[in-house]
Amino acid sequence: MIPGIDKLSEPSENVAVPQHSNSSSIISALWALLIGATMAAVACGGITTADTQKPLQVVTTTSLLADLTQNVAGASTVVTAVIPPGADVHSFQTTPNHSIAISNAGLIVSNGGGLDDFLYPMIENAQEDGAVHIVASQGLAGASTRQDPHFWQNPANAVHYVRRIQEGLSAADPANAESYRDRADSYVQRLLDLDQEISQILSEVPPSRRHLVTYHDAFAHFGARYGWRTSSLVANDAGGVTPNAITHLQERVRQEGIAAVFTEPQFRSKVIELAARDTGVEVGTIYSDVLGGGSAADTYLDMMRLNARNLVELLR
Ligand SMILES: [Zn+2]
Repeated sequence: MIPGIDKLSEPSENVAVPQHSNSSSIISALWALLIGATMAAVACGGITTADTQKPLQVVTTTSLLADLTQNVAGASTVVTAVIPPGADVHSFQTTPNHSIAISNAGLIVSNGGGLDDFLYPMIENAQEDGAVHIVASQGLAGASTRQDPHFWQNPANAVHYVRRIQEGLSAADPANAESYRDRADSYVQRLLDLDQEISQILSEVPPSRRHLVTYHDAFAHFGARYGWRTSSLVANDAGGVTPNAITHLQERVRQEGIAAVFTEPQFRSKVIELAARDTGVEVGTIYSDVLGGGSAADTYLDMMRLNARNLVELLR
């Protein structure tokens, strides 16, 4: 049987009911309205109805969002990230293949807050009618002020992302809403456990040494959650490093006796390492986004744990 034909036969069986009663034109009109509403719902549902046999495909802007989404969507759902693991979101260039992937997606998940908004015109052009696009940070304090869009560096914000993703999956594929809720519930519990674990790990660093110095400004939400000060060389990408910024940072490192600064693997610039070498401090690694490819920062949970351990190793 051709998928969809069976479904389409159901409303016509219903049409027969008022014809049998034949007693009231009002009842007939109500039936017509009801059937009309049902057909409209079928049309709006897109992938969930006429294309029921087609599995839901999800496209996310970043690999971190792909990881969070996969945990809620389940292993059988195809989740693809536009920006591959390890690439820098701030300097990313799209290709026509990204538009094709988006046009096949029933759900698109983006971060918002200024991080990936440059992709929105492409998403709006490419997405199919009826596809759902959710912005994971929407509703978080600061999401509209464009200060630091790396909200996930606080696991409480990752909980918010997961609930938004759950809503998006349920809107795109209502038939599986219960499974999405169950998976989101258990993943949220893992995020809450992670938050406790990070607090525990970081407690090894004396309060006076809780100052995270990184290459780019991605850890304000981490700092706010765990009571750390944060400083960075540049606001967002490698293009913005000025000699002035380096001198300023070196002065702070000397004045405050900071023991280590941290580089981020997606920025291949050696600037922070050279600046650190001049001041005689150690250089550690911190991840602002997941890397994938079987790395130690392959998933959000692993990345956050690894970051906390790396901080403790050089700053305790
Ligand atoms: Zn960033």
